[in-house]
Amino acid sequence: MSLTRKTVAKTIYAKESEIIFTSCGTEANNMALMSVLHRKNRGNRIITTTIEHPSVLETAKRLEAMGFEVIYLKPDKSGVVSLTDLENALNDKTLLVSIMLVNNEIGSIQPIADAVRLTKAKAHNAYFHCDAVQAFGKMPINVQKLGVDMLTASAHKIHGPKGVGFLYKSQKCHIAPFITGGGQESGMRSGTEAVPLIAGLLGAIEDLPNLETTLLKMREVYNYAKQRLIENDIAVINSFDEGLPYILNISVLGYKSETLLHFLENKQIFVSSGSACAKGNQSYVLKEMGLSDKHIDSMLRISFCMDTTMDDINALCDALTTAKSQIRKV
Ligand code: PLP
Repeated sequence: MSLTRKTVAKTIYAKESEIIFTSCGTEANNMALMSVLHRKNRGNRIITTTIEHPSVLETAKRLEAMGFEVIYLKPDKSGVVSLTDLENALNDKTLLVSIMLVNNEIGSIQPIADAVRLTKAKAHNAYFHCDAVQAFGKMPINVQKLGVDMLTASAHKIHGPKGVGFLYKSQKCHIAPFITGGGQESGMRSGTEAVPLIAGLLGAIEDLPNLETTLLKMREVYNYAKQRLIENDIAVINSFDEGLPYILNISVLGYKSETLLHFLENKQIFVSSGSACAKGNQSYVLKEMGLSDKHIDSMLRISFCMDTTMDDINALCDALTTAKSQIRKV
């Protein structure tokens, strides 16, 4: 277990003792947010964004209902939050700032290192948590350089098993455990460890390619997809080039996401109409970015992985062209 923990820690430039294995990213996010309960004597403000994953947003709402003051920062039209807004929201009573590294629907990257610097300068009691589920294993992450106190990752986003993730908790960060019991994970997360799943996480990490070179390859795939979708008048692009090239968010204007989704599914092409965790609802992320209902109702989120090829993109574009000729417009 020690060697495994060491290998996991190394991927984000952390120490072995700073990794807490959890059952998933959701649990790690809950652990980070709920930690404010034991620090109530130092303040009551939490700052997050309106485009976090539900595992952060719903937990923030729960804390709000318990009396904490939660400030939700709104993104600009490219899906990035403003550092000035963060600076204005920070005060001495701030206990926690939680901002994701990469958004799961649009791929936007938040300026975490700058946000941490601001937080540390203006809010002396605040810990900084970063949900890096969409970034881990896809872009280099260095917790020392980012300066975060806590960071969440999950195995199934990098071809690892479902049901395992981890929370990085800096040795300088002192929080109480969320799950108590037999004292596993240095007392921070009791419960018998899911050793086979943790081994699966290790396997996924060992199989990771060089992140920088793969990012360059993914940028080519992303650009090719974007070019084909625009040139063939298939869709408009909602993602921004500054984002992570693993997530391409598009709108096939005039066609309903769900109908397109099922059409593609029949051709063994699997995309999504927003976050898997927000099925059936309009995308709150696109809404927060100020996109129109027309864009939101026809939105598809295309997730790439390191194995995605140009042939896959061609198949997607051809299928969407066929869909547009066969599906009735709304
Ligand atoms: N955070 C983000 C940004 C995600 O995209 C997800 C899952 O899609 C999670 C958290 C939750 O991770 P898990 O599925 O491991 O609970």
